Amino acid sequence: MPVFDHPEFDHHQQIVFGSDEASGLRAIIAIHDTTRGPALGGLRIFPYDSDAEALTDVLRLSRGMTYKSALADLPLGGGKAVIIADPRRDKTPGLLRAMGRLVDDLGGAYITAEDSGSSEADMRRIAEVTENVGGLPRHGAASGDPSPFTAWGVYCALKSAVRHGLGRDDLAGVRVAVQGVGNVGAHLARHIHAAGARLVLTDVDAAALAHLAEELGAEAVAPAAIADAEVDVFAPCALGAALSEAVVDRLKARVVCGAANNQLAAPAIAERLMARGILYTPDYVANAGGVIEIAWQRREDYRREAVMAHIEGIGATLDEIFARADREGRSPASVADALARERFRPAG
Ligand code: NAD
Repeated sequence: MPVFDHPEFDHHQQIVFGSDEASGLRAIIAIHDTTRGPALGGLRIFPYDSDAEALTDVLRLSRGMTYKSALADLPLGGGKAVIIADPRRDKTPGLLRAMGRLVDDLGGAYITAEDSGSSEADMRRIAEVTENVGGLPRHGAASGDPSPFTAWGVYCALKSAVRHGLGRDDLAGVRVAVQGVGNVGAHLARHIHAAGARLVLTDVDAAALAHLAEELGAEAVAPAAIADAEVDVFAPCALGAALSEAVVDRLKARVVCGAANNQLAAPAIAERLMARGILYTPDYVANAGGVIEIAWQRREDYRREAVMAHIEGIGATLDEIFARADREGRSPASVADALARERFRPAG
């Protein structure tokens, strides 16, 4: 399994492979860049088919965190961790504590948090052995769950994208398709509904889909049909790689803006979207609300209004990205990458 020559290696500063015989832990922590501060990124627990697949995932996600924190103007770098395990079967207290020790060994260079497969309860277990944990309730919050903050950030992003892509200042009557009504997608759908938009929803979890569709008076469609929905905006809020060539060619939407990480199945998809006249909102810019809140949790002067104002700044960042993309005839994805790099790898 190549590491330094891996296609996703991209100058990672440190990659740690950890194992613990007693608990069966097999984990990888990837630290992409700490120029702006410690590398913060979630812990994904997933039954990867191979070590190689786990390595690819952690490298891609960790790099994305560097870009996300830089464009959200946070004093943080980018990192991520994965445990190769089935979260429903293998997540024992011993395994989580062993993971905590691995995080602790890095001396604060990496700070962990929730991601798919890991919960707030898991973070509390990890926090028994290391203080390098985010996403826990602090400053009087009832919960450490970042999803509501992520959803609010995506909502702000979506308003900016609608302004640029549809020339509309409000969402009244705008038709939006939400793919995945989990933690973030459901909150996002409620914000969009409250703003007067018309929703088309899908999810592989039929019960969750039916429940939310009824609550919001939305249309529910099968997962395979969402790309064909007659909508103005497509919001991918499920898994990564939602935007394949085939999906892009089917979309009726003129704007794409959602919460999912790594939405583009390949970098070239950004140009394909542009060629079809579809405005793509760079995923890591839109979905930074959660990490912004976690970053504020680490400060003594945490104030909810300041957190919300910081998250709303995502809209202004996107206004700048979309304007520059127009001026330079480039895709918003490539403009966002260049802006982020200016912030974590300043010239000289
Ligand atoms: P989640 O697991 O709560 O929700 C995902 C939903 O997508 C689930 O309801 C699942 O059933 C559904 N789904 C899975 N495959 C699907 C398919 N093929 N078609 C339709 N629906 C499908 O996860 P989440 O926390 O809501 O995160 C959603 C996305 O946003 C993920 O890509 C995640 O990495 C990203 N993200 C989340 C946060 C956060 O704060 N939770 C922050 C940044 C990015």
